Amino acid sequence: MKLVIDDTRCKGCNLCVMVCPYHIFQEGRTSNRRGIFVPELDRPERCTNCRLQPLYQRRLCGVCQMICPDQAISWLHEAPFEPHKVVIEY
Ligand code: SF4
Ligand code: SF4
Repeated sequence: MKLVIDDTRCKGCNLCVMVCPYHIFQEGRTSNRRGIFVPELDRPERCTNCRLQPLYQRRLCGVCQMICPDQAISWLHEAPFEPHKVVIEY
């Protein structure tokens, strides 16, 4: 799973920055084309959902998503790791 912020919805209120227990959301340092300072993600793979949602088959934690007033936070399914055929030459 991959944590994403929809920068067309986010208004930079930083509520997500305040609630995440892992401090994954950091206050934005540059404004986007709408003049919004969208939070930056610090190693989002640490998020409980990113790590464990596929294993438990349900949403975990999710506090950031619940508190976001603009429904800007979501998780994307990532394509499973593609196995590669490995040929070993002796
Ligand atoms: S779901 Fe929880 S751990 Fe993951 S980014 Fe949101 S608040 Fe942080
Ligand atoms: S809580 Fe939502 S709207 Fe507020 S800064 Fe975070 S992503 Fe943006």
